[in-house]
Amino acid sequence: MAETVDSVVIGAGVVGLAVARALARAGREVVILESEPAFGSGVSSRNSEVIHAGIYYPQGSLKARACVAGRDMMYDFCASHGVAHRRCGKLIVATDEAQLPVLDDLAAKARANGVGDLEFLDGPAARALEPALRAAGALLSPSTGIVDSHGLMLALLGDAEAAGAVLALSCPVVGGAARPGGGFVLRTGGAEPMELHCAQVVNSAGLGAQRVALALDGLAPETVPPLHYAKGNYFVLAGRAPFDHLIYPVPEAAGLGVHLTLDLGGQAKFGPDVEWLDGPGYDFDVDPRRGDSFYAAVRAYWPALPDGALQPGYAGMRPKLQARGGPAGDFVVMGAEGHGLPGLVNLFGIESPGLTASLAIADLVLAELVRDRL
Ligand SMILES: Cc1cc2nc3c(=O)[nH]c(=O)nc-3n(C[C@H](O)[C@H](O)[C@H](O)COP(=O)(O)OP(=O)(O)OC[C@H]3O[C@@H](n4cnc5c(N)ncnc54)[C@H](O)[C@@H]3O)c2cc1C
Repeated sequence: MAETVDSVVIGAGVVGLAVARALARAGREVVILESEPAFGSGVSSRNSEVIHAGIYYPQGSLKARACVAGRDMMYDFCASHGVAHRRCGKLIVATDEAQLPVLDDLAAKARANGVGDLEFLDGPAARALEPALRAAGALLSPSTGIVDSHGLMLALLGDAEAAGAVLALSCPVVGGAARPGGGFVLRTGGAEPMELHCAQVVNSAGLGAQRVALALDGLAPETVPPLHYAKGNYFVLAGRAPFDHLIYPVPEAAGLGVHLTLDLGGQAKFGPDVEWLDGPGYDFDVDPRRGDSFYAAVRAYWPALPDGALQPGYAGMRPKLQARGGPAGDFVVMGAEGHGLPGLVNLFGIESPGLTASLAIADLVLAELVRDRL
C-alpha cells in the first residue's frame, strides 16, 4: 500500500538533515529516506570538519554566497545547540616571495565575497603567531573554525524530529516518477520496499544524487549533470602538531592544497589531496605510498616535520561536477526552472564547502519549494 506525505528528503547527510529541519520547521510533514542503516555516514562522515570563511570561490557563485551565509548560521546554530566547535582561525601561507601575489589575489577574492576580516601578516608576524612555520607572508582568517560534524548532524536531526520529521533508515530510493497531475511517487528498496506519494521531493543524496535523479520517470536526463569522482586522502600526524591555527598552502587547481587541520581533540591531519578516479568503483583505503608527496608538500611550510611522522588516515570522496582538468564546478540547486517539475529540487555537486553551507543551502531549497507553490 502506498503511503502519502507532504515532503520527502532523500539522503540523511548534513545537507539533507538541514533541509528536513527547515521544511519541518516551516510546517511541512517530512520523511527522510536514507539508504544506509545510519544517518550521516556518506560524504558528511569523511571530511575536514572545517567551517570555511568563504575565501576561495568565484564572486557571485553559489559556493561563495552559501558559504558566507552558512558560516554565520553555523556558528549561531552550534552556539545555540551546544554543538562542539572552535573558531580557531587559519593561516594561508606563502612559503616564498613568489607566492605573495597569490595572497593578494585571494584577499581581493575574499573581499568580493564579503569576507572582510582577512589580515595580511608578513613573514616575521606569521612566525610570531606560529613559530614552526616557513612563511614569506600569510593571510590570517579569524572566522575559519572547526566543528564536530557528527554532533552537528545529531542536533539537526533532533530539531527536525522535534518539528515532526521522521527518519527512515535502510530505505534506498530505487525509482519513482512525476505524477501527471503533479506530485511524485517514490519507490524504495531494502528489506521492506514501499511506495511513497508526495508533493515535494528534495534529492540530497550526495554521491547518489545523479543516480536518484536518473531513476525518476518524467525528469529529462539532460538536466542531470555528470558526476566525477575525486578522492581525498588524509595522513594523520603521530604526536602533537606545533600549531594552534589551521595551516593552508596557497590553493591548487582542484583542491586547497595539502593543508593541516586540527580536530577538536587537537589531533592534526594533513590533506585531503586530490586523486581523480574514472568511475564509481572505489574504496576508502589510503595508499601509504601517497605519503611521499605529503612529506614534500607539508615540509614546504613546516620544514621540521619529522621523518616517519605521517600515518595513513582516512579518505573521502568529492561529488564533483568538475571533470579532471576542467573548470571548477559550482553547487547546483535545481528547482522547476531548471527541469520543469514543480516540487522537485535536485542538489548536485555538493562538495566542499557543503558542510559549512548546509544551513544556507537548506534555506535556498525552501525558497525553491515556496516559489513552486505560488
Ligand atoms: C575529502 C572532503 C573534505 C571536505 N571537507 C570539508 C570541510 O572541511 N568543510 C566543508 O564545509 N565541507 C567539506 N567537505 C564537503 C562536505 O563534506 C559535503 O559537502 C557535505 O558533507 C555533503 O553533504 P550531503 O548531505 O550533500 O551528502 P552526504 O553526506 O553524502 O549525504 C547523502 C546521503 O544520501 C544517501 N543516499 C545516497 N543514495 C541514496 C538513495 N538512493 N536513497 C536514499 N539515500 C541515499 C547517502 O547514504 C548519504 O547518507 C569535504 C568533502 C570531502 C569529500
